[in-house]
Amino acid sequence: MITAAQDQALRTRFVQGTIDGNSISPICRKCNTKNETKNHIASECPALAENQYKKRHDSEAKALHWSNKWYDHQPKRVIENEQAKILRDYGIRTDSVIRVNRPGVTLIDKIKTKVPLIDVAIPGDTRVEEKEWEKMDKY
Ligand SMILES: [Zn+2]
Repeated sequence: MITAAQDQALRTRFVQGTIDGNSISPICRKCNTKNETKNHIASECPALAENQYKKRHDSEAKALHWSNKWYDHQPKRVIENEQAKILRDYGIRTDSVIRVNRPGVTLIDKIKTKVPLIDVAIPGDTRVEEKEWEKMDKY
């Protein structure tokens, strides 16, 4: 499926309506707002964002926790030892109210007294830079 998507071989509504010449609307059947292209389906559809993209995002964030049995690894939300505390999908308290305060992984480095935030995004190839700026802006 990934190779077919990369080769533009998926018969999306946009392909059917514009390239194949079928009398079918090119608009996405899920959100009815944009053309149903492979990029739209893979990472841009608002109707898929809340559920399907969230599942994919959370799976990627889980993969950041290394395990030999990655396929059935269920990382804890909080892991802590003397050197560090790792929070997964955990809200951060701030002095001022910020809209987005739940990075994928928060690493509290007790030795260096630093707290790097790790957040995951899975944008289409054409939106990588835009998504990087969006994440930087949020946090
Ligand atoms: Zn859509």
